[in-house]
Amino acid sequence: MNIKKLWIAIGILLLVLGVSSCHQSKDDVSINDSQTYPHTHTPSSGVTENVAEPTCEKDGSYDEVVYCSECGEEISRTKKNTTAVAHQYKNEKCVFCGIEKASDGLNFKSNGNGTCSVSGIGSCKDDDIVVPTVSPSGDRVTEIASSAFYNCVGLTSIRIPDTVTSIGNDAFADCANLQSMIVSDNLNSLGAGAFSGCDRLQYNKANGLCHLGSDHNPYLILIKPEDKTQTLYETNQNTAFIDSYAFSSCENATNIIVHDRVTSIGACAFQDCSNLISVTLPEGITYIAGCMFKNCDNLKNVTIPNSVTKIGEQAFENCKSLESIVIPASVKTIEKNAFKNCSGLEGVRFEKTNGWHCFDLSEPVISDLDLTNEEKNALSLSFRYTDYTWKRA
Ligand SMILES: [Zn+2]
Ligand SMILES: [Zn+2]
Repeated sequence: MNIKKLWIAIGILLLVLGVSSCHQSKDDVSINDSQTYPHTHTPSSGVTENVAEPTCEKDGSYDEVVYCSECGEEISRTKKNTTAVAHQYKNEKCVFCGIEKASDGLNFKSNGNGTCSVSGIGSCKDDDIVVPTVSPSGDRVTEIASSAFYNCVGLTSIRIPDTVTSIGNDAFADCANLQSMIVSDNLNSLGAGAFSGCDRLQYNKANGLCHLGSDHNPYLILIKPEDKTQTLYETNQNTAFIDSYAFSSCENATNIIVHDRVTSIGACAFQDCSNLISVTLPEGITYIAGCMFKNCDNLKNVTIPNSVTKIGEQAFENCKSLESIVIPASVKTIEKNAFKNCSGLEGVRFEKTNGWHCFDLSEPVISDLDLTNEEKNALSLSFRYTDYTWKRA
């Protein structure tokens, strides 16, 4: 009985509250904004809005806005730029942004279009190299060339600026004393073996994996696992690159999950993972690099994403447990020996069966392959025509 009374009381309370709030909202509607009437606007003095302060390297901007002093309406809005303030160095560091002064004496190679690559260490004597954003001749620095810092054993740290989008093969290979490396936030191409033999590098570690990073993303490049004993690996959500050989010879690994942010996986990344059963490859990669899954005896399931245009040399060589595979319509090149000796392969389905030819060097050897029989395709790819590069227009 008491509980029933309580419910009735709550009911009445809610009803009263409901009525009163309704009443209130009716009142709100009846309040009018101040009246407008036809008039000629009277410009007030300009004010600044949307201020983006200039930094050392980037111009800033602001809007100059004039409002009517009578009705408050916007009369005009003009976007204005403010020029970058430029770095000012004291003790090799910028007093405004804290960036370290770029190293002198590096070699550059112009691309002839306002950009250039760093081609070598040149006469630079620094142990701590800061790659400049602009070369002495005024080119924007966008690449670290292949082997640019190969075997520079004196180097202990390198900072690559955000203008750089590409790091070439072996760029820092065998820099035996290199400990600290900061890469570009805007990297979109990473060559094979860029950091191989850099045995003293300090990594950013997460989930048992070692990474090199940029200023904003410590996990940008996955270099290798901390140790090769785990059965399951999963890439960090922020990782975009998997270095060549990253998981090679992880003999205990049965599953490797690669997240979708990853856009590039280096050569031989999963080679000799003899217990690997399945790998999730991310949508968005365009290239199954050479030797990527070579000698993965137990690999059963691989879905080639339909962003892939090329399957590299020896990519699946000796994957003897692979039973079937679908070659998506996006694929235009299968390099030689990509599926060599995949003896368990029972069927290969090509989403596009027309226009495939076999090439030896650049000569077409067999034209217009008939790829309608999935069983026959499997034999052709893994044995009969495996020595050729397969291409379609
Ligand atoms: Zn007005
Ligand atoms: Zn600065």
